[in-house]
Amino acid sequence: MYKYIFGPVPSRRLGVSLGVDLVTHKTCSLDCVYCECGKTTDLTAIRKEYVPADEVKEELKDYFKKNPKPDFVTFSGSGEPCLNSKIGEVLDFIKSNFDVSVCVLTNGTLFNDPNLRKELLKADLVMPSFDSADEKSFLRINRPCKEITLENYIKGLCDFKKEFKNRFDLEVFILPGFNDSQDDILKLKKAVQQINPDLLLLNSLDRPGAQPGLTAASEAELIKIKKDLDFKNTQIISKSIQRKNIASYREDREEAVYGMIFRRPCTIEDLTEILGLHRNDIGKYLDVLVNQGKVEAEELERGVFYKIKKDN
Ligand code: SF4
Repeated sequence: MYKYIFGPVPSRRLGVSLGVDLVTHKTCSLDCVYCECGKTTDLTAIRKEYVPADEVKEELKDYFKKNPKPDFVTFSGSGEPCLNSKIGEVLDFIKSNFDVSVCVLTNGTLFNDPNLRKELLKADLVMPSFDSADEKSFLRINRPCKEITLENYIKGLCDFKKEFKNRFDLEVFILPGFNDSQDDILKLKKAVQQINPDLLLLNSLDRPGAQPGLTAASEAELIKIKKDLDFKNTQIISKSIQRKNIASYREDREEAVYGMIFRRPCTIEDLTEILGLHRNDIGKYLDVLVNQGKVEAEELERGVFYKIKKDN
């Protein structure tokens, strides 16, 4: 078992993706209401070596020695990877030692730092998230730490897009009741045009009930928002059932997750602990089981529990 790398996980967008977690669990500059990793416990904009870069490099060396090459190495996980002050060093290490593409999944809130922008230039794909260009909605949906302002956030994204020569995809998470009013969409449209990503991705909750009290945007709502945003290159992220078609999808892991839930309802935390898999790994398999109608989520006092769907 590795401590900082996980997967490879079948990813809707990246094929077979080896995850690298550069921060400790839920260290983030945002505390998004929809975060599938739970509540942010260290809300910060301070960049430092949250996990030791040398240990991450050792794990990567070991992984590439023993395993086939993934399609991507992806900085992601359970917090904001750009908070790690050594992200550039790890990125350089990967690009000079292994012939593999690197993706950075980030909230993009720290892009107003020119040093960080420079550190990321060697990435093949950077995918920042950006959910709202309206001050109130931004505070409500993303709950940023006090150092992050919406103005600097948008400026940082625009600056990075101008400097970065590889692919830059912007992901917007639509959450009904939080960022989908007429006014929200109008402001979002303006900001997206300013940022000018190569591709705009519209996403919503994958697993109904992954967070208490939140609902996913329907396909029809996303299609309408896509039309209203009227951006040249926009895609709605397709449902995760397609992950099953990816070669690295492990049926045995899906069965292990299903088997545990069959015995008793479990939270993601329970499954992570019992099966010894990274929570992002567990999430991918849960997505498929929920979309297949085998498993359903239920909000209880201790959190969101996954249980066998009654008619199964
Ligand atoms: S930016 Fe990502 S990791 Fe941070 S709270 Fe939002 S969804 Fe979670």
